[in-house]
Amino acid sequence: MSASPSLEALKGVGSEVAKKLEAAGIRSAEDLYSYYPRKYDDYSHVVSIAELRPGPVSIKAQIKQAKGRYLRRGLHITEAIASDSSGSVRLIWFNQPYRAAAIKSGADYFISGLFELGKGRLSINNPSMELVSDFPVSTARVVPVYREAKGLKSNQVRRLIRDNLPPADALEETLPKWLVQQEGLMSFGAAVKEMHFPSSADNLEAARRRLGLEEVFALSLASLMNKYAIADDLAIAIPFDEQLAKQFVSSLPFRLTDAQRKVVWQIYKDMANTRPMNRLVEGDVGSGKTVVATMAALMALKQGFQVAFMAPTELLARQHAETVYKMLDSVGYHQRVGLLIGSLSAKQKQDMHARVESGEVGLLIGTHALIEEKVAMQQLGLVIVDEQHRFGVEQRKKLLKKAGHQVHVISMSATPIPRSLALTLYGELDISVIDTKPAGRQSIITKIVAPGARAQLYRQLDTVLEAGRQMFVVTPLIEESVARLGARSATAVHKEMQAVFPKRRVGLLHGRLSGDDKTSIMADFVAKRLDILVSTTVIEVGVDVPNASIMLLEDADRFGLAQIHQLRGRVGRGEHQGHCYLIPSDSGPPPKRLLALESSSDGFALAELDLKLRGPGAIYGHAQHGALDLRVARLDDKQLILSARRAADEFIKKRESLLNYPRLRMKVQALRAVTNLN
Ligand code: ADP
Ligand code: MG
Repeated sequence: MSASPSLEALKGVGSEVAKKLEAAGIRSAEDLYSYYPRKYDDYSHVVSIAELRPGPVSIKAQIKQAKGRYLRRGLHITEAIASDSSGSVRLIWFNQPYRAAAIKSGADYFISGLFELGKGRLSINNPSMELVSDFPVSTARVVPVYREAKGLKSNQVRRLIRDNLPPADALEETLPKWLVQQEGLMSFGAAVKEMHFPSSADNLEAARRRLGLEEVFALSLASLMNKYAIADDLAIAIPFDEQLAKQFVSSLPFRLTDAQRKVVWQIYKDMANTRPMNRLVEGDVGSGKTVVATMAALMALKQGFQVAFMAPTELLARQHAETVYKMLDSVGYHQRVGLLIGSLSAKQKQDMHARVESGEVGLLIGTHALIEEKVAMQQLGLVIVDEQHRFGVEQRKKLLKKAGHQVHVISMSATPIPRSLALTLYGELDISVIDTKPAGRQSIITKIVAPGARAQLYRQLDTVLEAGRQMFVVTPLIEESVARLGARSATAVHKEMQAVFPKRRVGLLHGRLSGDDKTSIMADFVAKRLDILVSTTVIEVGVDVPNASIMLLEDADRFGLAQIHQLRGRVGRGEHQGHCYLIPSDSGPPPKRLLALESSSDGFALAELDLKLRGPGAIYGHAQHGALDLRVARLDDKQLILSARRAADEFIKKRESLLNYPRLRMKVQALRAVTNLN
């Protein structure tokens, strides 16, 4: 963040505290005051001691007779008497030996805590207390409670914010004045202050609305600006050839689902237009996106344009090349398909470059090698990006630049962006959802297995392996890492599986292997030379092994729901019933999120649920999406979203410049980078 002083310049922050703050994602004063409370405890009602009733209470009193002692080793107790004009009450602190000495006799304190029975007497246990003459933040008010992380305590955050929050009028307004007026918004400075130290429930609500509106406003601006940026240039229209489309469809070994037809039709309409298509095709795992992409590509080929089809992994790129080749065979366009991936030999690459340059290859399928290699596509008319969220913005941009002019773009994703978020990000017109699956698909049986029940599960799985089936074991990490200690790595699990299943052949697949190694390990698994494949999420996308019927997920709670849903789509693709076992990292009651996977096979519903529980950033499991995280706004607040979108429209119509709003500009830029498909 711009001119924020570094952390250590803050009051109460030394290098130790700075480290903890950074671990929690707080790197500047601004980050600190944007660290909004997780919840609030209401201690605002101050009563006289005579009125005390069991429960959370606040009193205003003086403190006497404070003394501390050890009850036994490791258990210290401080007792004191608080009194006001109505009576007195006992205060008790456990293991806070500094308490007695810190008390100023004769001074008025606010004291808040739980009034409850202890050793036969009512007392206030472990209360917070603050001098009435200070600005109380932990007592006699609605008290903010912060998310605790890595040794960072809520109390500590509260104190740091109290000591460093600039006065409300010192924080510059971040939104346009007309918007603040029009929507009757609280000022930025006041809203930040109210979020941390609310003066009333109404004011807190007003602060939330103000900051939430700002978040969604930034999202909407980013999406609009992306749209206008591409609408300025014209793309080349690619007309629709009904004859050819019909011929292709009738040559397929299956009937297109209604959803597929609808989406193909939307795409053909877009392509026939000079407004550059920027369409996101969302469809659950197995909904049949590849054939939709192939139909779009076919039309471009027919009309003399080239197509770049980019996939995130070599495995997937190869697989796409094969299936697309087969599908296009029937209409005679298969010879124009080419594959370009990093692991080809220099000679093969050169050859492919030449065939692309001459136009012989019209549909080039590949990984990010499409960007990095010197690929010259003179007649590029359509770009298809599979699993678009796995690519960085820069990568996508570079691919599009190859054309030298605007092209039509289809982005495909099986990690469903929840509809509520997608609408805000992309708007109604540019999303296509393949919302039905081909008939006859069996769903996968998913079960959560407590870590303690491993042995029993392994015995059960061994009989399935004995019967000839295969199993994926997926872990979140490649190797033990310091940053996420406790998670089981693929290398560790690989060793473990070899020990547990001595009769089975166990392979290891992860992203750091060379392309050749990955391909050969995958080929071994496909050819049943391996029974068990331990892997990181590199197998998340695409891989098709019909004989694999079991998936075991280690540290399942570390994955996003949509991601797990996509992973489990790898099994049960053949005639055998698919099973997915989720092993959480802790024993104890399974997290609610995971339970949803047992009962739901709807990827969109799962993504929507994850969005509610963990925010957009978490859904994608990808750092860049952190920019999408909403701290305050709720996407189910229709009124708020409507207001924010209207405001964004107006901002553009008024020809306002973001240069006048530095904080807003920074946010919008980050968001554009994440959501821009073009
Ligand atoms: P995804 O949407 O996950 O990319 P794919 O395009 O890989 O799905 O399709 C999954 C499988 O379903 C493929 O084997 C494909 O041939 C098949 N398929 C696609 N559309 C249909 C359909 N309409 N009817 C039956 N099978 C289909
Ligand atoms: Mg796919």
